[in-house]
Amino acid sequence: MAKIIKVLKGTKDILPQDVHMWHFLEKKANEVFSKYGFKEIRTPIIEVTELFSRGVGDTTDIVNKEMYTFEKSDRSITLRPENTAGVVRSYIENGMSRLPAPVKLWYKGSMFRYERPQAGRQRQFHQVGVEMFGIKQPTADAEVILAAVNYLKALGLNDLEVEINSLGCPKCREEFKNKLKAVLKPYFNDLCEDCQNRYEKNPLRLLDCKVEDCKKIFEKSEIQEIINSDFICEECAEHYTELKLYLDKMDVKYKENKLLVRGLDYYNRTVFEIKSNNLGSQNAVCGGGRYDGLVGQLGGEPTPAVGFAMGMERLISLLPQQEADKLDGYIVSNFLTDTFVLAEELRGKGLNVEFDLSNKKFSKQLEKAAKVAKFAIILGEDEIAKNQVSVKNLETGEQVTVDREICTKALKL
Ligand code: ATP
Ligand code: MG
Repeated sequence: MAKIIKVLKGTKDILPQDVHMWHFLEKKANEVFSKYGFKEIRTPIIEVTELFSRGVGDTTDIVNKEMYTFEKSDRSITLRPENTAGVVRSYIENGMSRLPAPVKLWYKGSMFRYERPQAGRQRQFHQVGVEMFGIKQPTADAEVILAAVNYLKALGLNDLEVEINSLGCPKCREEFKNKLKAVLKPYFNDLCEDCQNRYEKNPLRLLDCKVEDCKKIFEKSEIQEIINSDFICEECAEHYTELKLYLDKMDVKYKENKLLVRGLDYYNRTVFEIKSNNLGSQNAVCGGGRYDGLVGQLGGEPTPAVGFAMGMERLISLLPQQEADKLDGYIVSNFLTDTFVLAEELRGKGLNVEFDLSNKKFSKQLEKAAKVAKFAIILGEDEIAKNQVSVKNLETGEQVTVDREICTKALKL
């Protein structure tokens, strides 16, 4: 026998018995984000590598360690590790800045990161997200957070925690970075390798470190003092206060977390995460924030923007298992030709209908119907002679015989 080929590590099939959960997430995303005026955008899964090195940032794990990159015709191409950079590229390339602001876009799709596979962490995974361009006021931040919260509510996920923070702007952050570096300097040799590498390039990211020894260092009082200081400038502080005001008014519960810095380089001012207590260590379902510098950095007119991405696998693992929809009807009959005709007739009327293509015994067909359909549609000799069908509700056992033309009514009992 030939050798069996297995799925790549860190990737998964989405099997027919599970796909309805994905349809549910996608349908709700369309419904909820449409309410806020977001339009769906679909960008390519492959992009030039430079988009991510410039758009996600050279100091991030994503760009340094996690990208699937390959050469083709002398071009370096990368499977997208996230979709903000692709959406920003498309926004610029398609002249969307000429549209009246705000431009509101949402997306869903596969992302690829070469990470260590574990519960809640895959190499091909899916995100659903939104991006809003053109509004610098905190109304945009608030609306994006509201869209995220209401999407999660629409999925039936209420037991989640929203965390927010403000990273200030490049100006006020510079001073904070310097202070942080100064206070961390005596501990430099005790920091993990990643932290040592980030110390110069992106010291804020140190706060995001998950290594216990590093976390202990950050708990020291002189470091805590810097972390908890109000370093952000007056304008940034106003932006943050106003955002919190909107969230309070909209009854969005949130926690302020000064250690929330997010993995990506491009954020400024607002950052947020939504976490679940039921996910173990990979507990973030949603990450987002404001990225006013990114459009400019990728060659567009400087444009304020804010967005988020959610991990769809993590959302699905939080949802109670829902049963897949059954067929509307399964035709039970030993008259194959008549069955074929009836099945097509019912499909033409919009029903999901199957029958036994291999002409098994009547009793076997009935057993199958009970497994896969809401109704058994029985087409016996009598029914055919009278142009009728018998419809059996497989849940209640109730059975009626009706004229064939009106049997769709009986199927919607
Ligand atoms: P994490 O801290 O979990 O690595 P991240 O900061 O890398 O998250 P983002 O890049 O902001 O995550 O992506 C947003 C969301 O996408 C995350 O909150 C998570 O739900 C999901 N996500 C990220 N990486 C993966 C992965 N490898 N597998 C499954 N889901 C993921
Ligand atoms: Mg990550």
